[in-house]
Amino acid sequence: MTPETLVATVAVAAPLPQPLSYLLPEELQTQAQIGMRVEVPLGPRRVVGYLLAIAPGEAEKLKPISRLLDSEPLFAPELVPFFRQVAHYYRHPPGEVIRCALPAGLGEKKGGVKILREKVYNASPGEEAPRGERQRDILTYLRQHGPCRASDLRAHFPHPQTVLKRLEELGLIRVHEEERERDPFRDLAIPADHPVTPSDEQEQALSAITAALETGGFSPFLLHGVTGSGKTEVYLRSIACALAAGKQALVLVPEIALTPQLVGRFRARFSDSAIRIAVLHSGLSDGERYDAWRRIARGEAEIVIGARSAVFAPLTQPGIIVVDEEHEASYKQGEGFRYHARDLALWRGQLQKATVLLGSATPALTTYQRAQSGQTGYLPLHGRVAGRPLPSVEILDLRGHANALLAAPLQEALTATLERGEQALLLLNRRGYAPYLLCSDCGTTCHCPNCEITLTYHLKSRRLRCHYCDYDQRPPDPCPGCGGSQLMPYGAGTERVEEELARLYPEARLMRMDRDTTAGRGRHQQMLDAILAGEVDILIGTQMIAKGHDFPGVTLVGVVQADTTLNFPDFRSSERTFSLLTQVAGRAGRGERPGTVMIQTYHPEHEAILCAAAHDYPRFAEQELAARQVLGYPPFGFLVNLILAGNDPRRVEEGATRLATVLMERSRDAVEILGPAPCPFARLRGKSRMQILLKASQRSVLQRLLDHLPELRRGLPAGVALAIDVDPLDML
Ligand code: ADP
Ligand code: ZN
Repeated sequence: MTPETLVATVAVAAPLPQPLSYLLPEELQTQAQIGMRVEVPLGPRRVVGYLLAIAPGEAEKLKPISRLLDSEPLFAPELVPFFRQVAHYYRHPPGEVIRCALPAGLGEKKGGVKILREKVYNASPGEEAPRGERQRDILTYLRQHGPCRASDLRAHFPHPQTVLKRLEELGLIRVHEEERERDPFRDLAIPADHPVTPSDEQEQALSAITAALETGGFSPFLLHGVTGSGKTEVYLRSIACALAAGKQALVLVPEIALTPQLVGRFRARFSDSAIRIAVLHSGLSDGERYDAWRRIARGEAEIVIGARSAVFAPLTQPGIIVVDEEHEASYKQGEGFRYHARDLALWRGQLQKATVLLGSATPALTTYQRAQSGQTGYLPLHGRVAGRPLPSVEILDLRGHANALLAAPLQEALTATLERGEQALLLLNRRGYAPYLLCSDCGTTCHCPNCEITLTYHLKSRRLRCHYCDYDQRPPDPCPGCGGSQLMPYGAGTERVEEELARLYPEARLMRMDRDTTAGRGRHQQMLDAILAGEVDILIGTQMIAKGHDFPGVTLVGVVQADTTLNFPDFRSSERTFSLLTQVAGRAGRGERPGTVMIQTYHPEHEAILCAAAHDYPRFAEQELAARQVLGYPPFGFLVNLILAGNDPRRVEEGATRLATVLMERSRDAVEILGPAPCPFARLRGKSRMQILLKASQRSVLQRLLDHLPELRRGLPAGVALAIDVDPLDML
């Protein structure tokens, strides 16, 4: 029998809109599998590609695959339709979609991946007596604790190497090497599991979810639980149920470094079973990430926890996909391949017949609307656990107050909280000392030369910094406008609040948590630990402190300026403000003692602020949805943002105008075309930027118009790049 001619479909890691066909040479046929990387010729180059299909066919004009780059597949064939669908929907090259999905560093690396190893020590059986105190101590420790890594031993016994070597020579211990996972969570003690009796509402949610898991098939749910209502307990029990049925679980969290508590609770719940948890987080090196990926692909993890890109984790049989804090903007990738991980979780659930559980205290309005219309099951948790009340909220109108940084009532509340020995948390969603310097004589401000954005003044480093491109410079002196000396910081960031707190409460232990103070490895975790240990009296920070944390000691939450997110030129600014305020308010009174929240604002009548203060999500949603319906904004319409960028502003404008005209002709009124207009940030990182916003009442109409884009892209002036943002979240 002559061997068949086999044709391979390969998604090439290059900006090509479609996969390509190659001949699969005879000598590779036995090893080649879908999901492996291959090397293929592309024009004069050789590039990496991903094997999507292998089938008999006509191969006469096809070039052969040069070689296989993997000995095992990186993803199962089940994921191929998922990748294809995603690539088509977001109009992103399929090869680049898969490259983004796979662990970093794969495509580029030649040769093997470096694996870190560490010695592990174990006491040998037998009763031989050790000699000397140090030997005895270490041996006793090993006998009690079982196998220990060198790094753990070092934590208890300084410089143990020589003693360990002697013990090994005496045959009292055995040593082997293990792959070392540089896992920032590994060194954390696994917290004790606190099994609780589910509340009635938790019970109802669980019975709906377990019924869906038993039936099998795709079923999406929104778990809409107020802050502190015990959503995590519902995740844990639902997952246990999926695992009991022999399936796997995928858990997405907004930013894993910010959620060590959640990871800890998963470890606690499943630590004494044979369940293996893989945590994909940004602290992993490329090699470790690759390793974790391989383990998952081989079926060696039952639970995978990770941020946005973990939605692509190569689980073969996810029975349940949890998206925690599903409203979080970090699920949307803002650059390059601009996908939304929550939306992909739903698609993946559809393709792999899984239950998808979206959890939030402040669901995205699009998600809420789907639940209201019955497309998604609705599981509400109205109350906090153990009958704890939601905190009382007071709105402070800043317009009448002399000290606009911390108004008198907030100062009094802080004093009272400190006197009671309780903790306070202050939110200001702006880092640095002041958002700009302003000359009070001539009005000069300092802008980033690349971005046309004011430079933020940072006090500690005494630098002006651009928060978009990281440009930084010394504050000019004298004022470049008038040569005077009146260039002063205006407005406030977290650094300034910290300074003010230190002045007002010299005795209080302060901590500032924002991107500037959490940069170092493990810093964030140390800070969380200090707060939980009661070593901090007042925590000041950006939205980082509003997320998911469970700080039982916090009884006062202050919002320094609720308006920072309200004035953005974006139809979602209300939703964002409501969500941030509700989330940060939810940090108060989670323990035994009730909480108070104070919101300082210049817009005390704004619906987003009033509804957040009243803990009234339904009222906010109703009003906001009504307004969106009138304007045809999501969820009642669909958007695609086309962003044109280039060095030469004239060419960008010329390209944008031409593109908009052609789109107008092609769409024949089915799609509303808004613009072209300069982006709200018209210059960013040295590029001029314009946008065209496409709006339609149906996705399919928009998608049909997007079919013209490859051809239209070719007609753009040289030096003008087009980015396509389907379902944009952020239109700056
Ligand atoms: P959420 O994520 O909804 O804000 P969590 O899941 O963090 O809330 O739960 C808040 C706290 O309440 C946790 O410490 C959790 O262990 C506890 N908890 C959850 N469910 C119950 C319950 N049924 N009874 C008592 N305590 C509970
Ligand atoms: Zn800049």
